[in-house]
Amino acid sequence: MKKHPNVSVNNLINYKNAVIENISNAFDSKNVASVDILRLDQIHNVISGNKWYKLKYYLENAKDKQRIITFGGAYSNHIVATAFAAKMMGIESIGIVRGEEPATYSPTLQDAVDYGMRLIFVPRESYKNRNDILDKINIDRTESIVIDEGGFGETGVKGAADILQHVPDLAVYTHILCAVGTGTMMAGIVRSALPQQHVIGVSAIKGADELSPVVFSFQHIPHASFEINFNYHHGGYAKKTPALIDFMNKFHHKTGIPTDFVYSGKLLFAVNELIKENYFPQNSSLLVIHCGGIQGNRSLPVGMLKF
Ligand SMILES: *Cc1c(COP(=O)(O)O)cnc(C)c1O
Repeated sequence: MKKHPNVSVNNLINYKNAVIENISNAFDSKNVASVDILRLDQIHNVISGNKWYKLKYYLENAKDKQRIITFGGAYSNHIVATAFAAKMMGIESIGIVRGEEPATYSPTLQDAVDYGMRLIFVPRESYKNRNDILDKINIDRTESIVIDEGGFGETGVKGAADILQHVPDLAVYTHILCAVGTGTMMAGIVRSALPQQHVIGVSAIKGADELSPVVFSFQHIPHASFEINFNYHHGGYAKKTPALIDFMNKFHHKTGIPTDFVYSGKLLFAVNELIKENYFPQNSSLLVIHCGGIQGNRSLPVGMLKF
C-alpha cells in the first residue's frame, strides 16, 4: 500500500503556520520587558500544537508503510493526532491504550475510532512492556511504524526542533518556556534555542526526576541552558486545583486565549507565578510556547471553564 512515496507530509496534512501574540498585559510585572506566546494551538483543529511537530518525521517514515502503531491514554492528544494523520495518509493506525476498555469511550477515543484507528486496550500493569504487547498483537512489524507514547524519541525531538523556525525574531528572547510531559518537545526546543537563551520546562507531572537527564541526553552541544520546574503540576498528571481553573478562566478573559488544564494551563500559571516572584532578571523577554492540545479539557464538567 505504498500510497504517497513522493509527497511531502507537509502537503498531506494541511496545517497553518503559528503566529506570535504579545500577552504582556495579562501579567503584572515590573521586571519583565515583554511576554510573547507562540500559538501552536492554532495550527490545526485535530493535530494540535506540538503533536504535529513531534509526529512529522515519523509520518515521513510511515509513508511507504501499511500502518502506524502507537500508545497513549484515554485523553491523549497524541492518539487522536496520530489517528487523524494516518487517515489523511490513507494508512492504517492502531492505538494501544492504557487501561481496561471502558463501557463508554472518552470523546478523544471516540474521535480516534471515527478516524479509523483500531484500539487495543492493555491493563495498566502490562502497558509498560511495549515489546511484549507488540508480540502479542501479532501484526507484521516490518510493515508498521511504531511510535512511542507522545512521540517520545529522537524522531520526535528532531520534529520539535523545527518549532522555533516559526519565530522570526528568535534572538530577542532571553527565556523560552514550554510544558513538559515526556520532555520530547522540550528537548527539541533546547536543541534549537540560541546558546545564550534559557529554556524553562514546566512539568505537568509530579517529580519526574528522571526527565532532566532525558532532555539532556537529546542534546547536541552547543545548546541553550535549561531547567525543569516541578512546582506547578497541581497534584500530578491530569490533576487540577481550583486555583488552576480560576487562573485559566481569567487568562482567557484577559487574552482570549484558551488553555488546557493538563499542560498549557499549568505552563501559563507558572509563568504568572514566576513573574510575580521576580524570578526573571530585569528586562527579560519571554517566549511562551502554547503547545496546543484541548483533549484533556473534554474530561471536565461542562461549565467549569468559561470558554
Ligand atoms: C503532549 C503535550 C505536551 C507534552 O509534550 P512532551 O513532548 O511529551 O513533553 C505538552 N503540551 C501539550 C498541549 C501536549 O498536547
